Amino acid sequence: MAHEDCIFCKIIDGDIPSAKVYEDEKVYAFLDISQVTKGHTLVIPKEHTKNIYETSPETAQELFSRIPVIANAIRDAYQPLGINLLNNNEEAAEQSVFHLHVHLIPRYGDGDGYY
Ligand code: 5GP
Ligand code: ZN
Repeated sequence: MAHEDCIFCKIIDGDIPSAKVYEDEKVYAFLDISQVTKGHTLVIPKEHTKNIYETSPETAQELFSRIPVIANAIRDAYQPLGINLLNNNEEAAEQSVFHLHVHLIPRYGDGDGYY
């Protein structure tokens, strides 16, 4: 169920526009509004969950099971040399949106701007 005042739930519902990368019945992926590198994508479960501490094994499995196909779609679209997966949980770990998400950060070699 959509969580009140959650921007990522609003994105899933189409109430906030986003650049869709992938979607199925369980998972949505879209370009980060503030891309650290070209093709920076966020992968989220459609079911609202705050972060990894509050996520069921089933939801985690559904989310991570889609990442290979999404990573390959990003590789096909942007031709990066590699890709980082990043997941921040709680403010102390730089989580700023409290709907579980995995960052897919394509890497382009020296000088791609991400450290
Ligand atoms: P966090 O810091 O929680 O790990 O990552 C949250 C990410 O969500 C940030 O990289 C930020 O740029 C992205 N973000 C925040 N609001 C929006 C939005 O409305 N649309 C999109 N596409 N990305 C957003
Ligand atoms: Zn949400």
